[in-house]
Amino acid sequence: MSDYDFDLFVIGAGSGGVRASRVASAHGAKVAVAEEHRVGGTCVIRGCVPKKLLIYGAHFAEDLKDARRFGWNVPDCDFEWTTLRDNVLADVDRLEGLYRNTLDNHKVELIAERATVTGPHSVKLAGGREISAKYILVATGAWPVVPDVEGAEHGITSNEVFHLDECPGRIVIVGGGYIANEFAGIFHQFGSHVTMVNRGGTLLRGYDESVRDRLLQISMTKGINFRFNAHMEKVEKNEDGTLCVRFKDGDPVPADVVLFATGRRPHTDGLGLEAAGVELDDKGAIKVDEYSRTSCDSIYAVGDVTDRLQLTPVAIREGHAFADTLFGNNPRTVDYGCVPSAVFSHPPLAGVGMTEAQARNTLGTVKIYTSDFRPMKNVLAGREERALYKMVVDATTDRVVGLHMIGPDAPEILQAAAVAVKAGLTKQDFDDTVALHPSMAEELVLLK
Ligand SMILES: Cc1cc2nc3c(=O)[nH]c(=O)nc-3n(C[C@H](O)[C@H](O)[C@H](O)COP(=O)(O)OP(=O)(O)OC[C@H]3O[C@@H](n4cnc5c(N)ncnc54)[C@H](O)[C@@H]3O)c2cc1C
Repeated sequence: MSDYDFDLFVIGAGSGGVRASRVASAHGAKVAVAEEHRVGGTCVIRGCVPKKLLIYGAHFAEDLKDARRFGWNVPDCDFEWTTLRDNVLADVDRLEGLYRNTLDNHKVELIAERATVTGPHSVKLAGGREISAKYILVATGAWPVVPDVEGAEHGITSNEVFHLDECPGRIVIVGGGYIANEFAGIFHQFGSHVTMVNRGGTLLRGYDESVRDRLLQISMTKGINFRFNAHMEKVEKNEDGTLCVRFKDGDPVPADVVLFATGRRPHTDGLGLEAAGVELDDKGAIKVDEYSRTSCDSIYAVGDVTDRLQLTPVAIREGHAFADTLFGNNPRTVDYGCVPSAVFSHPPLAGVGMTEAQARNTLGTVKIYTSDFRPMKNVLAGREERALYKMVVDATTDRVVGLHMIGPDAPEILQAAAVAVKAGLTKQDFDDTVALHPSMAEELVLLK
């Protein structure tokens, strides 16, 4: 008999926590997981999944218009936000049920309460119960950051955006990262007047510059407004409930909704980690080694709370590797090289490996191949929008070290191509592959 109530106590039933719980349990551990909100975490409840469903919904705006050029007699169509919202939220409920079943089927005890750490082997539940565990896994994710400006409380974050009562006529989106750009595309397609407000002069830092510039150019052509180098002064609420965003310089912008998409901070506040000597970095992220172990031997952490790469598949891998290492007698680390990522903007963009700038700074000589083309579908639809693919090659070895693209289905195409980049294939290997015609992806093997 163990001296502890559980072999493993997981705090947070999100992407990383659920995977770690069920794998540890399958390895024979006695596991409990505490969740203060809903099972599934950010990705399922208020992140990737509902967002992607809104993206699908948003696409119909252009698809219905384009359909006429393809011979369909499409009448004028109305968009009803509440129908989409309710269907999306119902699907989130369905998925939460599946996640609950997974925990149940793996005999993981789910405790629907907030938990905090009280020592290297102990946690306390919000209801007051103390529980001991041989190991504790912190998988509490991240939380939206709201800038410290007067009236910020009148704005919302991605936590609330899926529940809006109506589609805003005018929305101000503060931020320049992937969440800001995705919601700009979504609301623009739904007919909102969108203004993006950015403190700096760059969108989507970390992505390849050419691809970022193309998104900016297309977004501006579509009619999304941008305020760069903008210093927000305050958000005012008018008597009729509408808002007004004021800046240190420049005209104020009226809005019905202000959405803050200004980053996500590791969710460590008030977790009691200091009671166990768990060290944090200056951003509040839990410091871990390659096996996700913290500065306290019995406490581990995975996912966004460690701020390595804030992506669902990464949190899942970290949770899985942790459980295999501790309970499966199979020490494993996560390989962070060549992790593909996407922005489901309108059009979407995706990338893997080094950007052109990174490669130029890191490697001796670099060869760049690009294809700048108008997808066949856009030509018939009379859309000027062009796609851009870029391949970054190490000129010394011919190895493809980066792929970056913007255009229809870019994330779908890039996921497959990322296998080749991860495997270290060369430009010649791409050239040796016969094109699949007619497709957009064939551009990847036809780059000159
Ligand atoms: C709008 C949005 C869109 C996104 N889109 C994508 C995307 O397209 N692709 C992608 O890969 N990633 C995306 N992400 C990021 C992705 O959601 C996260 O990287 C992922 O969910 C991290 O998983 P996690 O396990 O670390 O944390 P989470 O999934 O956030 O889970 C943490 C859980 O811990 C719970 N919790 C916190 N503190 C406590 C406590 N003290 N006691 C009990 N429970 C607690 C929380 O309620 C939460 O359920 C998106 C995020 C957002 C916000």
